[in-house]
Amino acid sequence: MIGLVNGVVWGPGGPVRSDVWVEGDTVVAVGAAPGPVEEVRDVTGMLVGPGFVDLHAHLRDPGQTWKEDLVSGTRAAAAGGFTAVVAMPNTTPATDTVDLVEDMRRRAGLEAVVLVVPAAALTVRREGKEPVDLEALHGAGVRVFTDDGDWVSDDAVIEELMMAAARLPGAVIAQHAEEPVLSAGGHMHEGELSRRLGVAGIPPAAEHEAVARDLLIAAATGATYHVQHVSSASTLDLVAEARERGVRVTVEVTPHHLDFDTGDLESLDPNLKMYPPLREPGDRIALREALVAGLIDAVATDHAPHLAGEKEVGFADSARGVIGLETAASVVWGVGQDPDLLFGSLSARPARIAGVGRHGHPVEPGSPANLVVFDPDRRWTPQQFHSRSANSPYLGRELTGRVALTLYEGSIVHEETP
Ligand SMILES: [Zn+2]
Repeated sequence: MIGLVNGVVWGPGGPVRSDVWVEGDTVVAVGAAPGPVEEVRDVTGMLVGPGFVDLHAHLRDPGQTWKEDLVSGTRAAAAGGFTAVVAMPNTTPATDTVDLVEDMRRRAGLEAVVLVVPAAALTVRREGKEPVDLEALHGAGVRVFTDDGDWVSDDAVIEELMMAAARLPGAVIAQHAEEPVLSAGGHMHEGELSRRLGVAGIPPAAEHEAVARDLLIAAATGATYHVQHVSSASTLDLVAEARERGVRVTVEVTPHHLDFDTGDLESLDPNLKMYPPLREPGDRIALREALVAGLIDAVATDHAPHLAGEKEVGFADSARGVIGLETAASVVWGVGQDPDLLFGSLSARPARIAGVGRHGHPVEPGSPANLVVFDPDRRWTPQQFHSRSANSPYLGRELTGRVALTLYEGSIVHEETP
């Protein structure tokens, strides 16, 4: 039996000071030790809660394993306190069949240190034309469907997919909401800065138009729709209005959209290039407020590893995306210093959206031992990562709050040495 003693435990009634006891893959007691103890960690002053669940990670495996693979990606996840990671299907080949889903699960079962949850593509080869066999993939346990990286723009195709998804319990149609005509050729938010620097822009209208169309079809079909990496305030207004009308819609935001905006882009740091782009300060503030208010359900990393040589080639030519698994919790802690926000947006709600049953539960006797210990006072400056890539905007920036320990199914898969 492993004990985590003197922590602040995020339980069903909120945070309480107590001890947590783990036997096998289960939390067996909160409070006094129910039997002989083998191992104890003193976690005084630290938060103990359910392991984080990432709705949006690019593990690059199969196809681009020089950037990341199931081992390095899940080690990075464990270091960031994640016990389950939804793997985006824009691999090579794209995850668009039951065989490919099962192959990923089998390899993850052998190699990965936390749970890998394959998402499946919406369309064959992610080409936006022919819907995948949603029913067969759902039967194989897939819940999140997305062509992430590209928005499915064909009205008939997305309508057919949403009609099918509406009949499948727990199925979620997730979209990378960027209308391709409006966003074509752009590298940053279209505005004063892009004009001044002469960099092609992507207007917020690209996201707004995509989400507006998707919400109309979600409303008509009854499908559950998920907005990936929301970037602008006007999209939030659409979502709020749709929710009021009873549309089943959930929203994620990335850590970098909460922390950075066009005000940080003067230097054209390629580690601040991602799609959708960073927006204006007012958008960033609106995203933080919407997260605190609960309009945004989850923080998802959009962990997108690239090697240095793919990033340090000038802003326009730089690969898109940044890594995020190892720094996400610190960023969310910085938003509100609030255990409910931390475990709600990084664990309980994303676990529900992705349908991963053994994750995201408040800690109590009988809950699965997928746990994280988070030290809210620890200051640290990321210098290197467990990820195979290091394209992080947080390199060399001080953060407050750090994951100290991660337990996956009762085993310690990451422990920070102070
Ligand atoms: Zn995306």
